[in-house]
Amino acid sequence: MAGEPQADCLFCKIVAGTVPATVVRETETTVAFRDINPQAPTHVLVIPRLHYPDAASLAAAEPNVTADVLREAGEIAAQEQVDEHGYRIVFNTGAGAGQTVFHAHAHVIGGRGLQWPPG
Ligand code: AMP
Ligand code: ZN
Repeated sequence: MAGEPQADCLFCKIVAGTVPATVVRETETTVAFRDINPQAPTHVLVIPRLHYPDAASLAAAEPNVTADVLREAGEIAAQEQVDEHGYRIVFNTGAGAGQTVFHAHAHVIGGRGLQWPPG
């Protein structure tokens, strides 16, 4: 069924607690944890508990959960005090754009200068 946990998915394992993560916030629908290979002083991933391969498929199936992910991204930016200076919410989509984990996730990146356009 759509949204069901996938046995071979790393982020489903983090949701289930069978792979450890440094969790910074949790809600009924989302989990947020520090990226294992941070690209900035603040680099947190926000994921839905439900499994969808990318942000667009999550949004098509679960608009409310998608809003939860975005709201949590904002809450993390405030918690990490990067909101005043500015931060970035990134959804890499597809291998050609750098997506390596095919469970939808928002990168919340801040705490340093951020170039535009991104690489
Ligand atoms: P993406 O490349 O957009 O799919 O993002 C996947 C992110 O997950 C990368 O930034 C990785 O550093 C991060 N990552 C991979 N394994 C783990 C893990 N076990 N705990 C936390 N973050 C991870
Ligand atoms: Zn998953």
